[in-house]
This record gives sequence, C-alpha cells and structure tokens, in this order.
Amino acid sequence: MSELPVLTSYIGGKFVTSGVSFDNVNPVNGQVIAHIDEASLEMINTAVASARQAQDTWGKMPVKQRCALLHKVADRMAEREQEFIDAEIADTGKSLHQVQTIDIPRGTANFRFFADLAQFNSGETFITETPDGSKALNYSVNKPLGVVGVISPWNLPLLLATWKIAPAMACGNSVILKPSEETSSTAFLLAQVMDEVGIPAGAFNLILGRGSAVGDALTSAEGVDAITFTGASATGKRIMKSVADQVKPISFELGGKNSAIVFADADLTKAIKGVARSSFTNCGQVCLCTEKVYVHRAIFDLFVEGLKQEANQLKIGYPCDDGVFMGPLVSSTHQQKVLSYYRLAEDEGATFVTGGGVPRFNDERDNGAFIEPTILTGLSDTARVNQEEIFGPVCHISPFEDEDEVIARVNNTQYGLAAAVWTENLSRAHRVSPQLDVGLVWVNTWFLRDLRAPFGGVKLSGIGREGGQHSLAFYSEPINICIKI
Ligand code: NAD
Repeated sequence: MSELPVLTSYIGGKFVTSGVSFDNVNPVNGQVIAHIDEASLEMINTAVASARQAQDTWGKMPVKQRCALLHKVADRMAEREQEFIDAEIADTGKSLHQVQTIDIPRGTANFRFFADLAQFNSGETFITETPDGSKALNYSVNKPLGVVGVISPWNLPLLLATWKIAPAMACGNSVILKPSEETSSTAFLLAQVMDEVGIPAGAFNLILGRGSAVGDALTSAEGVDAITFTGASATGKRIMKSVADQVKPISFELGGKNSAIVFADADLTKAIKGVARSSFTNCGQVCLCTEKVYVHRAIFDLFVEGLKQEANQLKIGYPCDDGVFMGPLVSSTHQQKVLSYYRLAEDEGATFVTGGGVPRFNDERDNGAFIEPTILTGLSDTARVNQEEIFGPVCHISPFEDEDEVIARVNNTQYGLAAAVWTENLSRAHRVSPQLDVGLVWVNTWFLRDLRAPFGGVKLSGIGREGGQHSLAFYSEPINICIKI
C-alpha cells in the first residue's frame, strides 16, 4: 500500500483497523488522496457493546458536566478549524468560501447550541384531580434513548453529522456515527477531537465504510436503540425495512424536489440572484436546492434572461481559487448521474437556456467531476426531469398564470422538503406559504436557518423534525411518573 493516509474507525476510545480498505478520491482531479479502512462486522458489534457500556458513564453524567465536555469539543474543533476546512475541501471539492463560512463553523456551532439548549430540557408537570376527590402529581423525566446510530450523507458532511451527534450526545446518548464513504475525513478528525478532549470511551464511536455493508449492519444491529438518518429517500426506505423487526425509532431527513415561485410582484433583481443561489450553491448538492422554478408569465422572459446571465457569471474551478463559486461535484459517479439527467432532458424535449455539459480546462481538472450550471425550459410538470431529484446545478423554469394553479403544480410531487416564494405582497406571502406541502418555506430568501426552528420534510422527504426542542424530543425518552397525593 502507498504512503497515503489511512482513515480508520474509532471504537471504545481506540482507533482500530480491519486491514481492508478502499480509496478516497479527490473530485477535483480524480486522484486518490487517502485509504478508508472499512469496519468489519466484528468491529461494528464491538462499537455497539462499547456504546452500551458508556451509558453507565455518559448517560448518567450530570447534564452540566456532559455539556461542558461538548463545549470543549467545539473549542478544539475551532482550534483545528483549518484542518477541518482542508479535509472537507479535499473530500468534496466545495469552494473555500462555502466551507469557511458554512460547513465548518456550523459544525462547531451545532455542539455549542445543543450543549446550551440541553441544559434546559425540562419535563412536564400536571396536577390531576382524581375520582376520590384528592389529587395526583404527574411529572415526566427525560432519559436518553441509549445507543443512537447516526448515518450521514456526503453533501454537507460535518454540518449534517454534527446536527445529529450534538443533540444526541447532549441528551446523554452514546453515538455510533457512520458517515458517507465519499466523505470520511472530517468525521475522522472529529473522532480525534473527541479523544483529545476526554469524551468517555464508547460515548462516541466512528465506523467507516460503505452504506450497503457497514450502514446496513448498523441499522439492523441489536443494541442500537434508534437510527437518525439523512440521505436519499430510496435509502430511507431500505433502512425503514431494516429497523422494522426491532421497532426502533427513526428520524429521517430525505431527498427533495424543491420549487421556487416568482410572482409578478417580486423584486426581480432580488429574485434572480436568490434563485441563482438556491439552484447552484454547492453545485446544487444541498437537499434544499431549487430544481423547479415557476415564474409568472408576465415576467417570464425577463427572468429567464436574468438567471442565464447569473449562471454564466458563476466562476467554476479550483475550490480555493479567488472568486470560485462552484468546484466539482462530489464524485465522477455523481457527475455521470447528473449528466444522464441532462441527456434525459434533451430526450424529453427541453430547451437548454445555458449549460448542459462539462467545462474543459485542459489540465488535471479534466479528470475531475466538474459540470456546467444548467437552465432548462419547455418541459411539462410530469417530465421525469421535473419529478426526480437530480442533485446537481440545474433548474427548470416554467411559466404560470395564477396563484391557485402554481400552488397545485408545486404540490404535484412525491417530495415535500422546501420551497421559496418571491413576492413583495405580504398578504400573498402569508396566503401561499402554508398551502405548500413542504416542511420549510422561505419568503424572499433561501437557506436562512435558525437552529431553534423546526427542520424537516413531508411525504418522501422525511419523517420527523430536527432543530431546537424537536431534536431534544427525538433523542430523549420522556418517562411519566404519577404520584397519588
Ligand atoms: P445516500 O442515501 O446514498 O447515503 C447516505 C448515507 O447512507 C451514507 O452514509 C451511506 O453510506 C448510507 N447508506 C447507503 N445505503 C445504506 C443502507 N442500505 N443502510 C444504511 N445506510 C446506508 O445519500 P447521499 O447520496 O449520501 O446524499 C444525498 C441525498 O441525501 C439526497 O437525496 C439529498 O436530498 C439527501 N439529503 C437530505 C437532507 C435533508 O435534510 N432532508 C440533507 C442532505 C441530503
């Protein structure tokens, strides 16, 4: 084997190897940058046993002490921020600006936020009048679920993993993290941080490897009390079947096919810039990204021309070069998937306003996974390109005539994660937003998050909500105690 770094699992407070590995590839140039040692079944079983054992220490530790340790995790992550930034860029090819301003700071913020919030995770109290004329006191106490399996995707690797790990651990659960096989590097750094700050052995475990092997084994393992998953809807269906026998609680954040609606009374400049951001950020690889845009017929041509100009100005290139907005997609496999949708759009009769191919650099980047931002028009709502999640820098723009029509068309999908509404009419914003069958609506903005607010989707986009108290509720078990007075 070469001198490249080998990323390993972290189980029961030790970094351990199976000796079987696969390559970690940089999507900028297709070069192998590390080897990922894949956890064996025996290692997964050891992780479960260690996590269970850690319940005696971590689960019973006073919440103040536990949360102080999680603040130390955040402190150490901040000290090692540059390593996290470099690792995330190497795995994903994301732009430096995005990693520096979103991915890594949000990873740290997740620990601080939930460490603070969990200290106020109080139970409920009721005085109950009883049939004999006296009273009873009902009160609830929150206990950890026990061992939580966290399965995370590649698109916002550290941000989305810590969005689950932080509340789960703050509530006293032991965690076993299975990050995406495409992006294990920041998870590996996080394991080092947990070790450095003295998180008790077994309270945080990392198992590396592919979803079909390691992920599947984690979901079906006895001794794992709950699964929290972010990823594709198809994977969610498989996980649901896998946990069914043991009736484990699940939290699912799944795929999306999100719309933006631009009304004739929108601020056109704001709307064009906003939709460019919501369609092309992270090369369209954010579950919340817009893939369908409905624009009122009165401003349709102006909007299409404006968005085309925005797309054509986006700088594509090396993640760390000045002004670069789009690096490559996460992998050549994903590049082929997105390209197959560009070809499907052709077959379905779309007009390509811009894009549709792969940019050429005449250097090593031609071996990478780059792709052009693409704008389509001319397809019906039932075209596959308008129904299936593509997860690339592409949107289709359709004209609409009136409010009721556009609401029905936005809701005509099996997904239900997010929508963006662009209008300067306050009444319209309030009238339209709650009629959309999604978990999140943004008005005149996109991807503006308050960590206390509920986050999640309906239909094929997920089960349950994350964020603030919603996360604490999922990661704790309220036990009601009734005392006759
Ligand atoms: P994916 O479902 O392929 O993989 C996600 C994780 O699941 C990975 O860790 C993978 O190894 C694991 N996995 C795969 N098969 C498994 C199995 N059989 N059992 C257990 N684990 C398994 O998703 P992805 O390609 O990494 O991420 C992109 C998808 O995630 C998109 O559909 C996107 O919309 C969705 N996503 C949703 C949200 C949200 O909040 N709703 C956020 C980000 C991404």
